[in-house]
Amino acid sequence: MVLTTNRNIGLLIKTGLIIMVAGCISGSALGQSAHVNPWAQKPLGTLPPPASLSQGIWLKGELHMHSRHSKESSNNSISKIITFCKLVGIDFLAITDHDNHVEGDVAHNTWADPEFKSDSVLLLYAAEWTTTRGHGNAFSARPYNHQQLYDVRDQRDTVVGRIKNKLGIHLSANHPSGKDHFGYSYDMVNSIEVWNSAIWSKNANAIMIWDDMLSSGRKLTGRGGSDAHHGVPVGDEKPGPNTYQAKANYAGTPTTWVFATARTKQAVIDALTNGRVSISSNPYAPRVEFYADLNGDDKMDMMMGDNVKATGKPVKFKVQLTGNSIKDTTYTINVVKNGNPFGAFKMEGKMPMIEFTDTPAIAGRTYYRVTVEGPSTPYPQVPQSAALSGNMVGLSNPICFNFDPNF
Ligand SMILES: [Zn+2]
Ligand SMILES: [Zn+2]
Repeated sequence: MVLTTNRNIGLLIKTGLIIMVAGCISGSALGQSAHVNPWAQKPLGTLPPPASLSQGIWLKGELHMHSRHSKESSNNSISKIITFCKLVGIDFLAITDHDNHVEGDVAHNTWADPEFKSDSVLLLYAAEWTTTRGHGNAFSARPYNHQQLYDVRDQRDTVVGRIKNKLGIHLSANHPSGKDHFGYSYDMVNSIEVWNSAIWSKNANAIMIWDDMLSSGRKLTGRGGSDAHHGVPVGDEKPGPNTYQAKANYAGTPTTWVFATARTKQAVIDALTNGRVSISSNPYAPRVEFYADLNGDDKMDMMMGDNVKATGKPVKFKVQLTGNSIKDTTYTINVVKNGNPFGAFKMEGKMPMIEFTDTPAIAGRTYYRVTVEGPSTPYPQVPQSAALSGNMVGLSNPICFNFDPNF
């Protein structure tokens, strides 16, 4: 009896083990084949072809600047900022005063200032959305009801997003990894400030967030902004405790370049939204341009910010520096593919162009972006800025494959 029982138990254990092992095998096989993620990326339909690479104009600008309408600024009237921008060749400017300093009424403060006008600099309608959950910049080519964006600041993101869409503004996440980081959903924003102020080194975590957003299918434009608050005193203006900053960080540190279809405010906003954008350490530093040839005919077919379907064929990429590259020096081009280092290339200052080839995967998203390191370009009007930017010359926005425009 005992023996029989033992034998039975032994048999049961053996059988049980066999059943368990078989259960594991069939369970995992079932799990792999039976589960279909309904959110997995679907095959893309036809994507619109990239816009013209030649019909447009490169414009440079400052997208984060505080005037006297921000209470902690000093010696920084709007006319002083605009005069400076003209002097250094800045084409477009967003004065982004803190909206909480005027209870959201930007329209009757910054935008109503008699100095808020220019015959040459494209002045965007803008403000820094300054909230308990952090900061973002709103940009528009025409006046909009900023009060509504201010009023909704503590509501759920679904409500904020609805108002943002209704206003038709471009919303941008500010200094995403610093103090007052953007604490809202990135699904609401069109761009992200990946280079805040002349101090390049503090932007590493912002770049990390950008790569995470790109890798997860959010095609956000990377942009710059000095976030300068303080001007150089003139006339009977008195220096303040922060006046020293004016020589280290001011309009153009860094400079955001856009390839716009025309010299208009709307074209600047559109270029900013679609990502035909690169950033330079200052207005005199060379501009990074990043292109791709899709069919091997040595004619470039797309540039940074553009998105096409991968064909499975090799793509030739071209990086060039335009403008004041330094002849007798070498630049380092770091290529990032899907958030990871892809390669580093040396570029000569006298012939500042390199090419590389890679084959973007036919399935799934792929993106490439570049950063450029090398000697800094002097910026005499903001003489201490070059040292703060170190060897960072500029960076591009990504060239994208298989991104869903309806994501
Ligand atoms: Zn801020
Ligand atoms: Zn700011």
